[in-house]
Amino acid sequence: MTSPRRTFAIISHPDAGKTTLTEKLLLAGGAIHLAGEVKAKGQRRLARSDWMKIEQQRGISVTSSVMTFETDGITFNLLDTPGHEDFSEDTYRTLTAVDSAVMVIDAARGIEAQTRKLFEVCRLRSVPIITFVNKVDREGRDPFALLDEIADVLALDVCPMSWPVGMGGSFQGVLNLETGGVSRPDGDSRTFQGRVDTSPELPADVIEEIELAQGGYSSFDAEAYRNGDLTPVYFGSALKEFGVADLIDALARHAPPPRPQPAEPVPVSPELGEVTGFVFKVQANMDPQHRDRIAFMRLCSGTFKRGMKLTPTGHGKPIAVHSPILFFAQNREVADEAFPGDIIGIPNHGTLRVGDTLSERAGVRFTGLPNFAPEILRRVQLKDPTKTKQLRKALDDMAEEGVTQVFYPEIGSNWVIGVVGQLQLDVLLSRLEAEYKVAAALEPAPFDTARWVSAEDAADLKAFADLNRSAMAKDRDGNPVFLAKSAWEVGYVQDRYPKVRFAATRER
Ligand code: GDP
Repeated sequence: MTSPRRTFAIISHPDAGKTTLTEKLLLAGGAIHLAGEVKAKGQRRLARSDWMKIEQQRGISVTSSVMTFETDGITFNLLDTPGHEDFSEDTYRTLTAVDSAVMVIDAARGIEAQTRKLFEVCRLRSVPIITFVNKVDREGRDPFALLDEIADVLALDVCPMSWPVGMGGSFQGVLNLETGGVSRPDGDSRTFQGRVDTSPELPADVIEEIELAQGGYSSFDAEAYRNGDLTPVYFGSALKEFGVADLIDALARHAPPPRPQPAEPVPVSPELGEVTGFVFKVQANMDPQHRDRIAFMRLCSGTFKRGMKLTPTGHGKPIAVHSPILFFAQNREVADEAFPGDIIGIPNHGTLRVGDTLSERAGVRFTGLPNFAPEILRRVQLKDPTKTKQLRKALDDMAEEGVTQVFYPEIGSNWVIGVVGQLQLDVLLSRLEAEYKVAAALEPAPFDTARWVSAEDAADLKAFADLNRSAMAKDRDGNPVFLAKSAWEVGYVQDRYPKVRFAATRER
């Protein structure tokens, strides 16, 4: 029998405590070695310059893209989402590969911008969310205010599952509302070291708070949680280890096992005997000595066995997966078997792309891995014109990874790249130089956004493209794209060409 799977991600705003919580979850799951690495990241991160930070971030997102740990017979796959303020498609796509998410909120700050954006992505796919209000060992906002904010801003029912007994200087532990036990701080560091008061004496004001909280909010409803309508809320401190065990317990008891995934012609259930999966991330140049790439595939159905032949739907011949990588806690190990919900790293030479479906028998195609309309467009200016080929290769590679998008205009040779966040521009330039030895500069493009265009009748599309040649380009797969000067222009052309569809996302 295979152990049940819980495949999840942590969403949060930078500094809310994702790294710390990840470390503590892995520690609790016995993955001490990797926990050390995660911690090291946190420490180094402070000391380096911004540029190094990017590299660091990238390095870490490689080694710890997928962290697997096991407790009480359950296998947890924690997928890392890049933690910077800026947003990449990578982040969105990682969220397409999880069955649930943990939302970490800083008790002093409440819902912040990044949390909200990531939450919206989860909502689009009805990904259920467990909330962890972190840093209750410090002075924070009133628990009621925090709960109300989550409910109001995210339009979710909230259900407090635990309660802080005081915060900051008056912090006395965390009360588990299900068991009535209070986890108490110990020692000078005031960390949780396993002491639980099963029949605690609580201060009168805390008793009053709890009565109010239990009367005022929803009670836990597993179905509402799994539908994404209700979030159970845990209070804790990742740093001092309060609430970490409760969180693991909540994931084990309530978080959904692998769910059916949207696909054509019909959604794919994990019970389907055939092996199917989709690639949600591609990482190039993991080892600078080798030009290999790792495609990260989420297994959606079937039992994967090493050496199995899988066919990418829509393109290519079957590929034999001889050296799949499972990202176990200690280090990368060669996997012999994997089950729905698991992530497999498949080394390849660029044949596999983000969004690809892989299956034993071609026929299904997973949907819903979007490309997003870029919010920032730049022209790429090559400093050494003899390096055109290398530049094209680099841009195609990075587009495949989903780091940036690339557009080749119909007229002229000024290639345009598009990104969803500013930081990706810096990553692009530094990688061009470090990995491809191409010196390039980015200059403003006369475009503001891009739309994938299509039409029922090819003649309508052609008529549109002919009249707008200077704004037409192709993406890396040859799909026609309209480069717009502004969002206003998109609206304008939409009105004038009602038979042409202008899509802000492209599903592969
Ligand atoms: P990330 O950016 O979300 O990964 O956040 P980190 O885990 O790096 O944490 C940001 C800062 O908050 C670090 O200085 C942590 O030590 C601190 N921190 C994280 N969790 C807690 C907590 O529970 N209590 C306190 N007091 N500090 C915390």
